[in-house]
Amino acid sequence: MPLTVCEMFYSIQGESTLAGWPCFFIRLSGCNLRCSYCDTTYAYSEGRILSRGDILCQVEDCGSKIVEVTGGEPLLQTETVLLLNTLADRGYTVLLETNGSCSLKDVPQEVVKIMDLKCPSSGMSDYMDFKNLRYLGIKDQVKFVIQDSSDYEWAREKMAKHHIPVYTQVILSPAWQKMEARTLAEWMLADRLPARMQIQLHKYLWPDRERMV
Ligand code: SF4
Repeated sequence: MPLTVCEMFYSIQGESTLAGWPCFFIRLSGCNLRCSYCDTTYAYSEGRILSRGDILCQVEDCGSKIVEVTGGEPLLQTETVLLLNTLADRGYTVLLETNGSCSLKDVPQEVVKIMDLKCPSSGMSDYMDFKNLRYLGIKDQVKFVIQDSSDYEWAREKMAKHHIPVYTQVILSPAWQKMEARTLAEWMLADRLPARMQIQLHKYLWPDRERMV
């Protein structure tokens, strides 16, 4: 079955434990959420239909050893798991960025899962599937995008309640142009929070670019 692909591009990985590495991105179309701060609304419906083979050719042509499958929400398309499997089988370091609402049950073990837990100010926190936490290991990561102090408290509470830092990595990221990075860093330091603070590196590199970052 083909996949609907919004865009593919080579850029710098900006928001995971692999931030800073050059990476080939496959952005799949469609999303079941509508986050208040969404910066990829064009991925809701735009896209072209491509076979897995077409996508793999473009990955190969790029020459990157790191490949990220993102969206939208990539797990809405049934073929995505097959694409992830094929990329992993071919020896790529494969990252999956997912919005926390879709089951990770069938995602291959070797894929690095970057799972959002959407905080209240996103408007989407009721859609989070906390059962997904059982599929995360130490190479994977939970990401909280923080817009205000209520989001921060929510993230802190979920980290403690589900013991998240015990079995996976945690990233807190200030929402671009909405949350002062320094303020978030100070809250984390004051609380001795066992999490990594991260800015969206690609936004600092290309603040004027709306796509392909
Ligand atoms: S999950 Fe991602 S693509 Fe979907 S609405 Fe939220 S920010 Fe946008």
